[in-house]
Amino acid sequence: MTTTLTPTPVAGRHDRQTTERRCRELGRELFERAHAAEPRFWRRAWWERQMLEYVSADPRLQTQLFRFMECVPHLGDDADIARHLKEYLTPDVVKGSLPMRLATAFRDPHSLYGRSVGSVVRWSAFAMAHSFITGTNTREAIANAERLRARHMAFTLDVLGEATISDPQAEEAARVYLELIESLGEAARHWTHVPQIDAGRDGPMPRANISIKLTAFDPVFDPVNPDRVYDTVAGRLRPLLDRARALGVFVNVDMEAFRYRDMTLAFFKRLLNEPAYRDWPDIGIVVQAYLQDGEADLHGLLEWVRQRGTPIAIRLVKGAYWDTETTYAVRYGTPIPVWTRKWESDACYERCTRTMLEHADLIRPAFASHNVRSLAHVMAVAEELGLPARDYELQMLAGMGDPLKQAVVQMGRCLRIYCPYGDLLKGMAYLIRRLLENTSNDSFLKQGFGDRAAYDRLLENPAEARPPSAPLPRRRDEDTFEEEPMTAFANAVNTGFASAENRIRAADALAAARARGPVDYPLAIGGQAVETGQWIASHNPAHPDEIVGRTAAASTAHADQAVAAAAAALAPWSARSAYQRADLLRKAATVLTDHRLELTVALIREIGKNAQQADAEVTEAIDYCNYHAALVERMAERPRRRNVPGEDNVLVYDPCGVCVCLGCWDFPLAMLSGMVSAALAVGNTVVVKPSSRAPVASALLMEVFTAVGVPAGAVNYLPGDGAEIGAHLVAHPDVHAVVFCGSRDVGLQVAASAAQVRPRQRHLKRTVIDTGAKNAIIVDHDVDIDEAVLGVLESAFAFSGQKCTACSRVIVLDAIHDAFCQKLRDAAATMTIGDPAVVGSNIGPVISAADAERITGYIAEAKTSARVLFESPADALPKQGHYVAPVIFTEVDPKSPLAQEEIFGPVLAVLRARDFDHALELANDSVYALTGGLYSRSPAHIERARWEFRVGNLYINRKITGSQVDVQPYGGSKLSGDGARLGGPDYLLQFCRPRTISENTIRHGLTASGEDNSES
Ligand SMILES: Cc1cc2nc3c(=O)[nH]c(=O)nc-3n(C[C@H](O)[C@H](O)[C@H](O)COP(=O)(O)OP(=O)(O)OC[C@H]3O[C@@H](n4cnc5c(N)ncnc54)[C@H](O)[C@@H]3O)c2cc1C
Repeated sequence: MTTTLTPTPVAGRHDRQTTERRCRELGRELFERAHAAEPRFWRRAWWERQMLEYVSADPRLQTQLFRFMECVPHLGDDADIARHLKEYLTPDVVKGSLPMRLATAFRDPHSLYGRSVGSVVRWSAFAMAHSFITGTNTREAIANAERLRARHMAFTLDVLGEATISDPQAEEAARVYLELIESLGEAARHWTHVPQIDAGRDGPMPRANISIKLTAFDPVFDPVNPDRVYDTVAGRLRPLLDRARALGVFVNVDMEAFRYRDMTLAFFKRLLNEPAYRDWPDIGIVVQAYLQDGEADLHGLLEWVRQRGTPIAIRLVKGAYWDTETTYAVRYGTPIPVWTRKWESDACYERCTRTMLEHADLIRPAFASHNVRSLAHVMAVAEELGLPARDYELQMLAGMGDPLKQAVVQMGRCLRIYCPYGDLLKGMAYLIRRLLENTSNDSFLKQGFGDRAAYDRLLENPAEARPPSAPLPRRRDEDTFEEEPMTAFANAVNTGFASAENRIRAADALAAARARGPVDYPLAIGGQAVETGQWIASHNPAHPDEIVGRTAAASTAHADQAVAAAAAALAPWSARSAYQRADLLRKAATVLTDHRLELTVALIREIGKNAQQADAEVTEAIDYCNYHAALVERMAERPRRRNVPGEDNVLVYDPCGVCVCLGCWDFPLAMLSGMVSAALAVGNTVVVKPSSRAPVASALLMEVFTAVGVPAGAVNYLPGDGAEIGAHLVAHPDVHAVVFCGSRDVGLQVAASAAQVRPRQRHLKRTVIDTGAKNAIIVDHDVDIDEAVLGVLESAFAFSGQKCTACSRVIVLDAIHDAFCQKLRDAAATMTIGDPAVVGSNIGPVISAADAERITGYIAEAKTSARVLFESPADALPKQGHYVAPVIFTEVDPKSPLAQEEIFGPVLAVLRARDFDHALELANDSVYALTGGLYSRSPAHIERARWEFRVGNLYINRKITGSQVDVQPYGGSKLSGDGARLGGPDYLLQFCRPRTISENTIRHGLTASGEDNSES
C-alpha cells in the first residue's frame, strides 16, 4: 500500500441527514441480498443455524452444551465423549428436548449406543469447528484463501492459539507464522489481480495478509514489565516482519483483552518507529469501539501516524471479549473498561467510522462487523465523504454471516475474510467466542438473521434508538442466599501495576524507604512506647545486609505488663457499643488504604513479596477491618431471639477477654489485621506477638490502630522471642484466648499449653489455630493442560511457595501425566527469579538463610529417590539473598517426605494417579487439610471432589491461593488447624463466649402484652 500523507480535506457529497437515509437504503439492500443468499435446508449451514437457534432458546441447555463442546477436543475415546455428554446434559437440562433426551438415553457410555453417540458428537463438534476454522495446516489454509479470492473475497490468515505458556510454544508460533509468510508470499506471486480486492487508494495492495496476536510470542506477556515484553516479542517478530516486507505480505496486529491494550498499542508504535519499519505501510492494528476510550485510542493512533509519516491500516471492531471484561471487572470491583449498553458500542463504532473515513489519507480504514447497520453506515459515510469503495474495506469472520458476505461482494465493496486455521485444541476458545456471538441476544447476527426482526428497527441509528441491553452480571451470584453475604461489605481493590504511573509510584516509595533507612519501633504496652535495650532486627531476605527496621524485644516481665494492661482495658473497651468499635475498625481500614504504598514497600523489603503480592496482602488487611466491622454491626442489629409465650430468650455474645495474637511471617500484615480486628470487634483486648521474622509490618499495623484512637491497652504490641515470650503469653493465667498462625509443631505446643489450667486461672482458654499444609491439586485427564499448568505454577511458586495455601503436590491422571509434565517443565523455565523489588521478578528469596538451608536439604534428599523434572539453573539465582532454585520432582513416592512433609519453599512434587479414585486417595493422604484444587471438565468428578476431597478450601479450575475475604472464608482441618474460617461469617464467634438469657415475662398471670389471662 502506498499513500501520500498530504492532509486533503474531503469534499462532502451530501449532508448527514441524507447519510442517515442512505444508510437505511443501503442496509435494506444488504438485508435483501443477504436473505436471498441464505442457505437452503439441504446445506449444512442451514442445519447448523437451526441447531444454534434451537439451543439458544434454552439458556441452561446452551451453557451446558457449549461447556461440553469446549472440552470435546480434550477427551479421549468415544466412550469418554459419551460419558461427558451425559454428565453435562443431565435429565433436568434436557427435559424439554426430545433430540437431547435421545442423545443421552444410553446407560453405559461404553455400550454400542453410547460409543455411537460419542462418535457422532465428535464428528459434529469438529464439523462445527471447521465451519469457523479454515483448515488445520498452512497448505489447507492457503487453498481456502485461494477459493475465497475466486469468489472476489480477500482474506487474512490467523494461526489459532492465543496466549502461550512457554518459550518453546512461542518459538513454535513464530516458526508457523514464518512458514505461513513464506508460503503465502510465494503463492501470492501466482495469483491473478482481482481489482475489487487488490486495488487500494493508491494502487495495488498486498494480496497476502496475515493477522497476529502478540500474546502468542511471549509466555510472560505481562503488562507489569513492558520493556522485557518488548524485547522478547520484538525479538521474535522482527524476522517475521522482515520476511513479510520482503515478500509483500501485509501484517495486522489483533487486539486482545483490555489488560493488554495499552501495552499492545505502545509496542506497535515503538516497533513501527524503528528505522527498519518506519516507512513500511503494510501493517495494521485494531481499535475496539466497545472500549469506553476506544475513540481516544483511535485519535492517539492517528496522531502517531501523522508523526511517523507513513500510513498504516486500522481495523475497527466492536470487541470480542465483552463478557469476560464485564465479568472480571464486576467480580473484582475494578472499573468496567467497556460500554455497558450495546447501543453505546454501536454508537462509538459509528463515531470511529466517521473519524477513520475522514482520515482515509492517513490510514487504510477497515471495518470488521457483521452488523448490517454498522456496515451500511460505513458505506453511507464513505459516500457522504466522496470516498470510492477501494478506499476502505469491510471485514468479516469465516463461518459467520455468509449470506451477508455475498451481499457485500455483490455491492462491489472490498471484503476481507478473517480465516483462523490450525490445531483445533488451540482454537476452542475462539470457537466458543464465535458460538456465543452467534447466539447472544444482543448480537446483531442473531437479531438480523435468526429472529428476522423488522429491517427498519434493526437499521435505526443506535445513538437515537438506544434499545435496552441485557443487564450486567451482578457482583453476587444469583445462588447466593438473600441474607448472605452482606451488602455492607465490599472487597478493596488491588493496585493495577500494569499502569506505568503506579509502577513509578511504587518504585519511588521503595527508594524513599531505603533512603530513610531502618526505623526503630518500641513495644506498645498500655499506650506507652517501651524501649527495652534489646532489638530484633528485620533483614531484607533479598539483601540480607539491609536492615528494614528494628523492633524492641520484650522480656517476660514486659509480657506480664502487657497482659495486665490488656486486662485493665477490657471493661471500658468491651463496654463500648459494637457500632463504636466498628467505627474505629473502619477508620483503621481507611488509614491502611491511605498508606497502602508504604505498607506494600514494607512487605516487599521485609519478607520478599513482589509488588503485586505485597499489594494484595494490604488489600486483605483492609478487608478484614471492614469485614469485621460489618459483621459485628450485624450481630448487634440482629441478636438471636426466641421469645415464646411467657418467656423472652436471647442469645448474647460476650468477648472472651484478653486475647493473645501470635502472628505468622508469610502474611504478617493481613493475618494480624484479621486476628486483631476480629478480637477487637467483639470487645476483647489484645496482646500482639508478631513473628520475629517480620516484626516491622506488624509494627506499622499497630501504628494504624493507635492512630485511629483504639484506646491505650486495648492493643499491646509485644515482639519478642517466640519460644520465650510466645510461650509465656500462652501459659499466662490471665489470658483468655490464643490465636495462632504458624508451623504445625509450634501450633500443637500452643494448643497443649493453652489447654492446661494454671494456678489462679478460673477459665478455659479458647484457641484458634492455623498451622501447616501439604496442599494438592488434582489434574484430571480431560483438562486444557495449558490452563492447568499455569494454575499449578502460580499456586506452587508464587512467593517462592511460602504461602500456607501453596500447592506442593500435583496429582496428575495417568492419561495426561507425561504431556502435562513436559508442558509444566517448559512453562517453569519462564519463571523469573530475582529481587522482588525489581519489576517482573516472580520468584523471590525465601525468608532466611536457615530456611534456605532446610529447603535445600529436602531437595538433596528428594534427589536420591525422585526424578528432577525441572530445576532452575544455579546461575539464574542472584548472588546475594536467600534464594533457592525452584525444583519440580516426578516419580515421587507418595509416602516420601517430599510428598508428605511441609517444606514451605519452591518445591513441587508431581504424583501419578491411575484414575480419579486413586487421585482422590492420594490427595487425601495427608495429615493436613488446608487448601486443595481440582482441574477437571467432568461434572461428575467435580461433584465427587466437592464431597470427597476433604480440605478447608477447595478450588475448582483455578489456582488455589489468593482467597478473598468474605468470598472464600479460609482455614483448614486435620493438623492444618481447627477449622476457624478467617474472612468468614463465623470467625468472630471464635472470639466470643455466648450466653443465653431467659426471662419469664409472666407476673402472677400478667403476660408481657398486658393481657390478663389468669383464671380468676
Ligand atoms: C475480521 C474481524 C476481525 C476481528 N478482530 C478482532 C480483534 O482483533 N479484536 C477483537 O476484540 N475483536 C475482533 N473481532 C471480533 C469482533 O470484535 C466481534 O466479531 C464483534 O464485536 C461483533 O460485532 P458485530 O458488529 O459483528 O456485531 P454486533 O452484534 O453488532 O455487536 C456485538 C458486539 O457488541 C458489543 N456488546 C455486546 N453487548 C454489549 C453491551 N451490553 N454493552 C456494550 N457493548 C456490547 C460486543 O463487542 C459484542 O461483540 C474481529 C471481527 C472480525 C469480523
